[in-house]
Amino acid sequence: MFDNLTSRLSGVIKTLRGEARLTENNIQEALREVRMALLEADVALPVVKEFIARVKEKAVGKEVIGSLSPGQALVGVVHQEIIALMGGEKADINLSTVPPAVILMAGLQGAGKTTSSGKLAKWLMENKKKKVLLVSCDIYRPAAIHQLGLLASQIGADFFPVQTGQQPKEIASAALSFAKTHFHDVMIVDTAGRLAIDEAMMKEIGELETLLKPIETLFVVDAMQGQDAVNTAKAFAEALPLTGVILTKLDGDSRGGAALSVLHVTGKPIKFAGVAEKLTGLEPFHPDRMASRILG
Ligand code: GDP
Repeated sequence: MFDNLTSRLSGVIKTLRGEARLTENNIQEALREVRMALLEADVALPVVKEFIARVKEKAVGKEVIGSLSPGQALVGVVHQEIIALMGGEKADINLSTVPPAVILMAGLQGAGKTTSSGKLAKWLMENKKKKVLLVSCDIYRPAAIHQLGLLASQIGADFFPVQTGQQPKEIASAALSFAKTHFHDVMIVDTAGRLAIDEAMMKEIGELETLLKPIETLFVVDAMQGQDAVNTAKAFAEALPLTGVILTKLDGDSRGGAALSVLHVTGKPIKFAGVAEKLTGLEPFHPDRMASRILG
């Protein structure tokens, strides 16, 4: 998805041939290429600016050592900074609390919340041997509750039965008692999304957050959303104490810049990536692997 960056960087390697040291002057053209590639990949402008400034700071004055060519040295710096931009270290899901560990899923409609709730339940059951309860608070779309129920039965997770007429907060507290009495380790709560940021939605999810005190509040965002993802992320990060991000549809034909911008805007690590529609299509997010993928 960052094909441009890869091809532009291979051009960069050539322009720097024969230089013994990286200077402000000789990396200027290379940085221009990186800047263009990031903008074309839909990374937000303020993020690009800061990124370029950091690469410059790290690169200028760098002695080119050993068998490394100057171009490779600069690409190395770009690589490190892309990893840093995506959060540096891999961030694990946090479940260390008195059970049930509540995971609250937030995001716009269509981002992949319900699907990711099911996938995450499956991942936790298989990889962490957890007993998981899936709960839907999306009373506005009965189809969404049904969809989560179906996912639960496909993966063999428990599903909290919602009574007709129950309000989101009632569902949440009833589900919490249910999870306690049935000894669930983890309770994943899917919430109602809207097509765009909406005050009523934010208020509702804020109230659910206060009531449930989740150990993880994960912002689910579609990697294909491009620049819109930045505004959405900003609104959610302001309204909720997010703990992490799930970036979905990375398998799609996205320009991927959203991945870099969203982290920058929320200040929270990407914990999982959706890489396929099927229920096995959720993976822990590795910034270093993603950086290698971006750079080809
Ligand atoms: P919600 O409205 O946020 O709950 O979104 P859904 O979970 O219903 O997902 C919306 C659509 O995106 C569905 O068709 C999902 O199958 C699809 N989807 C979600 N995550 C992924 C992913 O990682 N890759 C692909 N290809 N499709 C996904």
